[in-house]
Amino acid sequence: MKHYDVAVIGLGIVGVSAAYAAAWAGARVLALDAGTPGGGTSGTSFAWLNSVRKEPDVYHRLNAAGMTAHRELSRELGGDAGYHDGGSLEWAEAEDEERELRERVHRLAGRGYPAEWISRERAAAMEPGLAIADHVQEVAFYAADAWLDAPRLIGRLLAAAAARGAEVRERTTVALRARGDRLEMLAGDSPAITAESVLVCVGPATQTFLESLGVTLPIGTVPGLLAVTSRPAQPLRRVVHAPAVHLRPDAGGGLLLGAEDLDAVVARADSPGDLTAPAAQLLERAARVFPAARSLKIVDARVGVRPMPGDRHTIAGRIPGFINGWMIATHSGVTLGPLLGRLMSDEIVRGKPSPALAPFRPERFAAA
Ligand SMILES: Cc1cc2nc3c(=O)[nH]c(=O)nc-3n(C[C@H](O)[C@H](O)[C@H](O)COP(=O)(O)OP(=O)(O)OC[C@H]3O[C@@H](n4cnc5c(N)ncnc54)[C@H](O)[C@@H]3O)c2cc1C
Repeated sequence: MKHYDVAVIGLGIVGVSAAYAAAWAGARVLALDAGTPGGGTSGTSFAWLNSVRKEPDVYHRLNAAGMTAHRELSRELGGDAGYHDGGSLEWAEAEDEERELRERVHRLAGRGYPAEWISRERAAAMEPGLAIADHVQEVAFYAADAWLDAPRLIGRLLAAAAARGAEVRERTTVALRARGDRLEMLAGDSPAITAESVLVCVGPATQTFLESLGVTLPIGTVPGLLAVTSRPAQPLRRVVHAPAVHLRPDAGGGLLLGAEDLDAVVARADSPGDLTAPAAQLLERAARVFPAARSLKIVDARVGVRPMPGDRHTIAGRIPGFINGWMIATHSGVTLGPLLGRLMSDEIVRGKPSPALAPFRPERFAAA
C-alpha cells in the first residue's frame, strides 16, 4: 500500500502547477493523468497571459495576479520555461469596436494595469510585419502581457516536481468513490494507492467527473479553433489582436491564428469534421494584417475545448460535501494555472486558504 499526502488528478497547466507547488511545499505528491500531461486543453490553447477582458474587478485582479505568478515562476525555473514577454497589441476599425476599446484601455489604465495608446508608427516599429489600416492612428499596447509555450512549461514543472519527489503516472484514468464525507481514489488498476487529500483538475471533464460523486456544478465546454502556419520570413514577436483575427508566434516558428466568430462556427458544427475551410479563412484574415502570411500554408488546425464555469469565473475550493477533496475548474487556465495551483497547494498542504479565492468558491452555486 502506497500512501501520499496529495493526489492531483489531471495534468494540464492547472494540475501540474498544483503538483509542483505541493511538492515544493514538502508534500508527498502523486500526479496522475488519463492521457499524457498537457495533452488536454492546455496543449491546444492560444495561451495569451493577460487580464484585458476579465470583468468584474475582482476577476481582473485574480488574472493580473496570475500574470505576476507566471513572471515569478519563470524566474524561479530559469532557462527557457516557455514564457515569452513583449506585451500585446490591439486595434479596432469599426466605430463601435473602437469606442469599446477606448473605454477598456481607459478602465484598465485606471486600475494600474499597463494599458496605453501608442502611435501606429511605434506599433509598426515593434512589429515591422504588420499592416495596420491607414485610418488607424493609434494602437492599444498592453506592456505586461505575454504568451506561453504551455507544453514546455508543463514539462518543466513536472520535471521540477519529480525532482522534489513527486510521482507522475500517465495513462491512468482516475475515479473517486465517496465514503461518507471522505473521497477514496481508484487509479487505473492500482487499488493499493491512498491519498490524504485529492485535488481534481480535469479541465473540461470536471462536470461529468463530479456528477459521479453526486456533486452538481455548472461547468460547460466551449470549443475553439486554432490554426498553425508554416514559418514566415518576417517573424512576429508578440500577441496581436487585429480586427477579425488574433495571432501570435507559435512555439514551432510559425504563426498561431484564431478568431472568436470562427470558434462559434466550430462550436455549432455537428462534428469537428474538416477544419480546412475555417483554417483557410483564418489565414486569409491574417494575411490582411500580416502580409507575409500570404505565402504561408496551414500546417495544423485543432479544436481545443475550454472548461467554462456557468458564470465564466474560476471555481476553486473544497468539493461540496467532502472534507478531503478539492477542485479547480477555470477558463483562462493558462493565465491562472500557476497562481491557482500555488493557492490551492497552500490551502491543502499548509492549511492556509487565500482571501483572494473567497469570491471563487464552489459554494456560490449552491447558495444561488
Ligand atoms: C482555443 C482556445 C484558446 C484559449 N486561449 C486562452 C488564452 O489565450 N489564455 C488563457 O489563459 N487561456 C486560454 N484558453 C483556456 C485555457 O487553455 C484553459 O483554461 C486551460 O488549458 C485549462 O487547463 P486545465 O489544466 O484545467 O485542463 P486540461 O489542460 O484539459 O487538463 C485536464 C487534464 O485532465 C485529464 N483528465 C481528465 N479526466 C481524467 C480522469 N478521470 N483521470 C485522470 N486524468 C483525467 C486530461 O487527460 C487532461 O490532461 C483557451 C482555450 C482554448 C480551447
